[in-house]
Amino acid sequence: MAENRYIDTRGNVTEPVSFRQAVVDGLADGGGLYVPETIPTMTVEEIIALADLPYAQRAAAIYKRFDVDFADETVDRIMAGAYSTNFDNEAICPITSLDENTHILELWHGPTSAFKDMALQCLPRCFAQSAAELRSEGVLDNEFLILVATSGDTGKAALEGFRDREGVKIGVMYPDGGVSDIQFKQMATQAGDNVRVWGVRGNFDDCQTGAKTVFGDAAFNAQLAEQNKVALSSANSINWGRLMPQIVYYISSYAQLVHDGKVAPGAPIDVCVPTGNFGNILAAWYAKQMGTPIDMLFCASNENRVLTDFINTGTYDITDREFVLTPSPSMDILVSSNLERQLFELTGRNPERIREWMRQQKADKRFKVDPDTFARLRADFVGDSADSAECFETIKDVYEQHGYLLDPHSAVAFKVAQRLRGENPVLVASTAHWAKFGENVYRALQGMAPGAPLPADIAQLTGCELNARIAEVTGCGPVPAGLAELDSRPIRFTQVIDGNADAIEAAVLEFLAD
Ligand SMILES: *Cc1c(COP(=O)(O)O)cnc(C)c1O
Repeated sequence: MAENRYIDTRGNVTEPVSFRQAVVDGLADGGGLYVPETIPTMTVEEIIALADLPYAQRAAAIYKRFDVDFADETVDRIMAGAYSTNFDNEAICPITSLDENTHILELWHGPTSAFKDMALQCLPRCFAQSAAELRSEGVLDNEFLILVATSGDTGKAALEGFRDREGVKIGVMYPDGGVSDIQFKQMATQAGDNVRVWGVRGNFDDCQTGAKTVFGDAAFNAQLAEQNKVALSSANSINWGRLMPQIVYYISSYAQLVHDGKVAPGAPIDVCVPTGNFGNILAAWYAKQMGTPIDMLFCASNENRVLTDFINTGTYDITDREFVLTPSPSMDILVSSNLERQLFELTGRNPERIREWMRQQKADKRFKVDPDTFARLRADFVGDSADSAECFETIKDVYEQHGYLLDPHSAVAFKVAQRLRGENPVLVASTAHWAKFGENVYRALQGMAPGAPLPADIAQLTGCELNARIAEVTGCGPVPAGLAELDSRPIRFTQVIDGNADAIEAAVLEFLAD
């Protein structure tokens, strides 16, 4: 069987690469992103039949449709490991229906209680397998160090995904003092023999800039290759291997809704996604391309509404946009990197146009798509935003009406779905467990304003204690074990380093020498 190969959205990589190469490379040379040459399709009957399988087998079936270049048994083994008892619900991502036509897709039952687990329990297994196969074929002769700069959530999900994977080490940097008590403890207590966590003096930008400088330091990378036989990799959200697990859950969810009698076979649904880097909603678009009966994709933003404005006007413009810190930090973005893949697809896969728009985005901080592309965008997407006050009201309203707690990201999506919905049933992607954001959930339930100081008796609680209290008062417990037990787990990592490249490189070398 001819394997599906991967092409570059900017056309700089002229010879398509294998799935394995795309996964270990992440980014294409020249800054473009990889997409498969062929997007497979499924009939509605085939999609619905997936509901007869456990989740891991649904994922394996869809990966095989993509002709990933692993043996079928390898795909089965990877998925059986990725979607198993590491999730606290047998359905992996169960759907809770708040009423007949409003369905919440809970993507946070994984080990770190955030939707990033859906991809980061799977990608590291594909990454390690790809690297091992390429090594045994003599294509590669190095191991990998995944270096991640995180504002909190991604780092933990990546640590948990890469821990104890063969041939890979992972080091995560977070801004010292710039993450919540829960986030700090999640990372500092991380288990695994191949992991390291550093606090960095500075903010998230300093972390990210430091990481970028290290990735771009040719002499340091050459030294790592020669002396340590290690290559740096980022495994961030532009890796195709992170997108595919997300396509799986949209196809799987449709099958589940039909299986549960909530949607008639073949009847369309709309999907609403709280959006940041555009990975999650892009996966829903690919699921639609593949044959899932999805009508409209609702792109939900917070105050950082660059995507809402883009979908409404066809112009992506950050010339005069302030970066706003909100209670939904994973949606606080200006440059949405996976949008590049979406535009590539909407232009009928035109790399010249993508190169030009990305050049303009970098040089002028704005670009405008052509009328045809804009029309295609409007045929699939609607965008709207909800601000922090609306987000808090929604958390409170939904709790009072349904006894169900939404986290701030999911609440933004819920609000936007209420505004944009028509006749179709709506599937709302819920991207984090509320207990990851306990302080703001507390504020919302108390009718406090975003950013308001917590009462002294609440402010003195640890994140775990506050979550336990919220769970008790609302009846929305139990808090997932991974979050509830943090206070009792030993802190392993306390090192704080400077954010400059020299300090990070020294820390990396020390880690590798261990
Ligand atoms: C990462 C994240 C998002 C944004 O997802 P994208 O794929 O980047 O659009 C939304 N909510 C939460 C909780 C996240 O962690």
